[in-house]
Amino acid sequence: MDYSHLAANWADIRRRVDAACRAAGRDPAEVSILPVSKTFGAEVVRAALALGLSRFGENKVQEIRDKSAALAGCGIDWVLIGHLQTNKAKDVARLASEVQSLDRLELAEALQRRLQAEERAIDVLVQVKTSPEESKHGLPPGELMPFLERLRGYDGLRVRGLMTLATHTDDAEAVRACFRGLRQLRDQAEAQGHRLPRLSMGMSGDFPLAIAEGATEVRIGTAIFGRRTVREGNY
Ligand SMILES: *Cc1c(COP(=O)(O)O)cnc(C)c1O
Repeated sequence: MDYSHLAANWADIRRRVDAACRAAGRDPAEVSILPVSKTFGAEVVRAALALGLSRFGENKVQEIRDKSAALAGCGIDWVLIGHLQTNKAKDVARLASEVQSLDRLELAEALQRRLQAEERAIDVLVQVKTSPEESKHGLPPGELMPFLERLRGYDGLRVRGLMTLATHTDDAEAVRACFRGLRQLRDQAEAQGHRLPRLSMGMSGDFPLAIAEGATEVRIGTAIFGRRTVREGNY
């Protein structure tokens, strides 16, 4: 297979992210890109590795399991960004370097227990629900403060910030309001003594708005790897 499109796509998205930073009056060095390799196989990830990428976002634990086995020893940091069932916490504790979809206490407890057994700690972002769609996961904004208080007791989970998915619409103001809401929640939490430097928000279709609202990290799949052939509903 020819993966030369990856290098061009990567250069292009980095350029577009940098341009969005400058348009927002921000330093491009403040915004990193998390490549989202979901549905693409280990050989595609291997080609992306050759470009110098080493962190990859995945939606499913099963895909992390399969790809990390195929790419063992490559030094990849696997980042879980999709909804996580509590009964899969064991594989995550073993294989993931970070979880961005922490959205409930039951899951935090399961991860903590499994991480303790593995004698590991991982970075986590709390996923907050900022959009009205029923299908979107995330902690209700009003529950964030007590949730963060509870997480203080879990030494396997290093809380670094917040993550969200914006509402799916052409209405840029509605999308932007989701991102703004996440940033404001973060600011409130920091005012109460929590340290949450990272804001993971924005994807291929809406990252400039997220950057304008303070994203420190954008999660990019399609613009790097191309269109997915697996139906999104299966995620
Ligand atoms: C698939 C996915 C992305 C990347 O989406 P693209 O539109 O392909 O860039 C980002 N975040 C999450 C949580 C995803 O599931």
